[in-house]
Amino acid sequence: MIRSVSLQRLIYRSALASSLVPIFAIEIVLLLLYFSVSQYLYERQQDALLTEVNRDLIEISQREAALINNRLQSLSRLTMIIRDSQESFFRRSDSCVLPNGEPVLQQAPSGAWYKAEDNGGGSVYYSAATALDSTARWKMRCSESLDVLLKASVDASPLVTQAYLNTRDDMNRIYPFIPNSADQFGPAMHMADYNFYYLADAQHNPGRGPVWTDVYLDPAGQGWMVSSIAPVYNEDVLEGVAGIDITVERFIDAILGMNMPWNATAFMTDANGKVMAMPAETERLLGVKATAVSAAEGNIGTAAHRDINLLQLTDPSLRTLLSDLLVSEERLQHLMIHDRDFIVSVETVAETGWRIVFLVDEQQLLKPIADLQTSSNRIGFLAISVMVIFYAAFFAYLDHKSRRLASRLANPIIHLSEVTGRVGETFEAEKLESVGISEIDRLYANFNHMNEQLRERTQALVDSESRAQVQRKEAEILERLAITDRLTGLYNRRKLDEVMAYECERSLRSRQPFGVVILDIDHFKSINDQFGHPVGDQVITELALLLRSSIRRIDIVGRWGGEEFILICPTTDINGTLQVAETLRGAIAKHSFPVIQSLTASFGVAAYVNGETLDELVNRADKGLYDAKRSGRNRVGASMPAPRGEDGVYL
Ligand code: GH3
Ligand code: MG
Ligand code: MG
Repeated sequence: MIRSVSLQRLIYRSALASSLVPIFAIEIVLLLLYFSVSQYLYERQQDALLTEVNRDLIEISQREAALINNRLQSLSRLTMIIRDSQESFFRRSDSCVLPNGEPVLQQAPSGAWYKAEDNGGGSVYYSAATALDSTARWKMRCSESLDVLLKASVDASPLVTQAYLNTRDDMNRIYPFIPNSADQFGPAMHMADYNFYYLADAQHNPGRGPVWTDVYLDPAGQGWMVSSIAPVYNEDVLEGVAGIDITVERFIDAILGMNMPWNATAFMTDANGKVMAMPAETERLLGVKATAVSAAEGNIGTAAHRDINLLQLTDPSLRTLLSDLLVSEERLQHLMIHDRDFIVSVETVAETGWRIVFLVDEQQLLKPIADLQTSSNRIGFLAISVMVIFYAAFFAYLDHKSRRLASRLANPIIHLSEVTGRVGETFEAEKLESVGISEIDRLYANFNHMNEQLRERTQALVDSESRAQVQRKEAEILERLAITDRLTGLYNRRKLDEVMAYECERSLRSRQPFGVVILDIDHFKSINDQFGHPVGDQVITELALLLRSSIRRIDIVGRWGGEEFILICPTTDINGTLQVAETLRGAIAKHSFPVIQSLTASFGVAAYVNGETLDELVNRADKGLYDAKRSGRNRVGASMPAPRGEDGVYL
């Protein structure tokens, strides 16, 4: 079954299907495309950037580590030069060169010996625990020759703060000059207690090469220090340890001042995980706190230091994380610290075992791309909003338009159906006016034309029908006139002949009798004569009326001619007919006629005899009439038929 749908719905749907839905679909596809391309680009950019960072971060950290390593190597070589000069000093114990003149050597009240005046060279200290014999005196006085190189070393490199020799018998020669070194070092400083000595001894350094100490806070107040030391051997005797003190601030400044791409930060620890350099930002991230060490505690000036060891952090998970990081062989790692992802590169400075750790905050790194993605998404959502608004407006507009179009289309059709519904109610059909839509106008024109045709044909039909009616009427009238007597309106002789012939037939077929009565006004001539012909006519008319009203319904009356009338009585035998005639005679005789008052009539009666002709029948009735006249008028006469054998019977 086809479901009926309104025109408006139809137009709305078709507009939807034909334009809106495809456009909508295309726009959805475009938007999806936009979002997926944007997402794709985002991911590609992210990947590209991460790849770049992963590659370049290793390169940068390697470069930085190599730079530091090179400087440390050259410093290590410097230590070896100093060591060589000192070894040759011990080998030539017979010589004594005093490049800065005779030093002023004094014994402090504590018993320790020292150089009292700065002669441009280094300062000298001898522990009170060592007896100052001739060898010791030679060592103290003649090692003045070493000052030249010590001074040159300190002067040559801004990193080198001090250069020195510490001997196995607890003598110290150090440049630059320390005034009153006996007070500074105490009465009996025992060199072997210090790492800058024992790390180079035979037990710790059998290879006799240069050695780096850990980073330490300089007791001479020079801040963070590291010492490059080397053993001084005379044959197999360890005479002492040569060394230079290197301030680490330079390296720290280099690390902290690094201008890193991708907002990367770097920190440096020594080989044991002690933090040497760490930006405040990283401190906050790791939850460690810089500790300012006062001069009293640190035995040095005002330099602040960060006494943090990453391997000894209180947070166990962070401690594990960083310990693993520092010992790992992996150069590049991805760490999650406090829910933040970091790309981490770790480089080791080969000379000292220091670790430089570079951190790139992934979130920060990808932020510009993420921001771009957010903006791009925002544009997409904006486009969606605009689209939604547009479609809402468009739907409303379409609804409005389709309603208007539908009513424009439907109204003429509704009008047409109303008008067609009324077709036939009136003869004149309504004329449909043009609505300005060609198809509908054509339909209207056809309808109007059809109506006009219908009207014309109906008119023609009506016309022809009424003509036929008139003709029928006329024919009827003619017919009636043909069988009617003009004066009385009764049947005339022609009709009476017909009726009698019919009754004759019927009587023969049904063997039922019928009777005939002829009546004739008595002395009518005298009426005419006495009152005039018109009165005679009037009397004839009056009698006709009387006859018509007096006879039975089955009987037929007609004017036979002049003042004679005939009455045909179907299915009536001679006796019945006589009775009819007698009744009429009485009625006429009693009737009061105009002008003449009264009159009488004579009757002749005959009943049909089978086989008899009409003329014979009428003649017999005439004979009866004649008999009645002759017998004195105003009476009924009947004529019996002549006998006719078997069939000649009275009916
Ligand atoms: P009877 O009693 O013997 O019949 O006498 P009667 O005068 O009636 O008979 P008669 O046949 O001699 O006269 C008939 C008269 O009727 C003659 C004729 O002028 C008159 N008549 C016949 N037809 C008409 C008619 O249509 N109008 C008038 N006014 N008179 C008629
Ligand atoms: Mg007569
Ligand atoms: Mg007469």
